[in-house]
Amino acid sequence: MTVLPERLLPDTADVDVDGMLRVGGCRLDDLAERFGTPLFVYDEQHLRARCREAVATFGSERVVYATKAFLCRAMADVAHSEGLLLDVASGGELHVVLAAGVPASSCVLHGNNKSVAELRMAMSAGVRHLVVDSFDEMDRIEALVAEGLPKPDVLVRVTPGVHAHTHEFIATGQDDSKFGFNLANGDAMLAVERAQGSSAMNLVGTHCHIGSNVFDAGGFARAAEVMARFAAPLDLPELVLGGGLGVAYVASEEAPTISAWGSALLDACDHVGVSSRVSVEPGRSIVASAAVTVYSVGTMKDIPGIRRYIAVDGGMSDNPRPVLYGSGYEATLARAPFAERPMAARIVGKHCESGDVLLADARLPADTTVGDLLVTPVTGAYGHSMGSNYNKVLRPAVVFVSDGIVRQVVRRETFDDLLATDTFDAGC
Ligand SMILES: *Cc1c(COP(=O)(O)O)cnc(C)c1O
Repeated sequence: MTVLPERLLPDTADVDVDGMLRVGGCRLDDLAERFGTPLFVYDEQHLRARCREAVATFGSERVVYATKAFLCRAMADVAHSEGLLLDVASGGELHVVLAAGVPASSCVLHGNNKSVAELRMAMSAGVRHLVVDSFDEMDRIEALVAEGLPKPDVLVRVTPGVHAHTHEFIATGQDDSKFGFNLANGDAMLAVERAQGSSAMNLVGTHCHIGSNVFDAGGFARAAEVMARFAAPLDLPELVLGGGLGVAYVASEEAPTISAWGSALLDACDHVGVSSRVSVEPGRSIVASAAVTVYSVGTMKDIPGIRRYIAVDGGMSDNPRPVLYGSGYEATLARAPFAERPMAARIVGKHCESGDVLLADARLPADTTVGDLLVTPVTGAYGHSMGSNYNKVLRPAVVFVSDGIVRQVVRRETFDDLLATDTFDAGC
C-alpha cells in the first residue's frame, strides 16, 4: 500500500479544498509559517477523546496518565481536567505538573532511584502515592518520616516475571530488570511485609508495568492474572497494572483500542475477584497518535543504484525513537497527504551523525521537492519528551489545535535559551 492510511492521522485531520492537510481545523502550512518547523501539532480533541475512553473503561481515579510520554503544563491540565491522575517519575516531572495547577493529591511518584530530595519534595507536597521500587527507597522514606514528614501511602512495585513482546529497552516486567521487587524470588512478598510492618508507610496496594508499546493483549492478561493472584490475599484497595498499550505507527500495524485493552485486563482480574481495584497508567496510547510533526524538506540527494536521501530540518533531536529502538514511521506531504507514494527515500535529520535517520525506508509522492512540508504522523509520544539539544539545534514549538483555533503551548527555543544555563562569564 503506498497511500498513507487515514487512521494514522489525528481524529480531526481532514483536507482543505486545495488539498492541504488540516488538523483541528488548522492548515498545516499556516501553522508552519506562523510557528516555524519542525513543529509538533497536537489535536486537542483527540487527546481528550483518549482520556475519556480510558476513564469510561477503567473508572474515575483509575487512570493515571504517564507524563513521561509527553509533558508540558497544557498537557498536564488536559489530563487533569479529564479526570486522570498523573504519574511522574522525577522531581522535574512533578515540578511541571504542580506548576500546571494540578494538586499533588492527583500525582503518583515513580522511579527506580528516587533521590532523597525527590522523595522529600513529593512527601511534603502530599502526593497521592509513592510507588516504592527498592529496599533502599524504604530506608529513605523511613528516615524522612523520622524527620517529621507525613507518612505516605505507598504501592509496592512488583516485577511479575512476564516477558512482554516489545523492544528489550522498554520491556520492564521480566525477572532480569532494574525495576521493582522480583515476584519469583520472594522479594515482592518481603517488600509487602516490610511496608506493612513499617510505621513510616501506609501500604495501599501493589503495582506492575510489563513494558511499553505492547500489542498483544494476551501478554497483558497474563501479567494481570499473575498480579491479581499475588494481590488477592493481601486485600489492599489498589492494584495498578501499569501502562504499555502499543499504538500503530505504520500501515502494517494494528493495536488494540484502550477499551479492548481494558477488557483484557479487567477480565483477567475478574477471574480472581479483584477487578474493582484495578488502575492503569497509559502514556503512549493517550498521546501518540494525537500529534504529527511538520518538517521542511531542505536537501535531496540521489545516489544512483544506492538510494535517495531527503533531509529535513529536525531529526534525532526531536524524535530519537528511530535511533533508540529502530522504530518505524510513515511520512507524507502536507499539501497532498493521501497522494500515491511511489518514491523510495531515506528521510534523515540535520545532525552530524549518519545514524540520524527518521525513516530508513520511506515512501513519498514522486514530486516531493525542496521546500515541501513533510509530515510524520504518530509522533505525540516519546518525541518531544525525549528530545535533546544535540548540535545545539533548537527544540521545536508545540501547538494544540481545536476547532480552527491554535494555541502555542511550548514556544520554539531561541539561541539565548542555549546560553541560559551556560555560566561562562558569571564565574562560579
Ligand atoms: C512508562 C510507564 C508507563 C507508561 O507506558 P506507556 O507505554 O507510555 O503506556 C506507565 N507506568 C510506568 C511505571 C512506566 O514506567
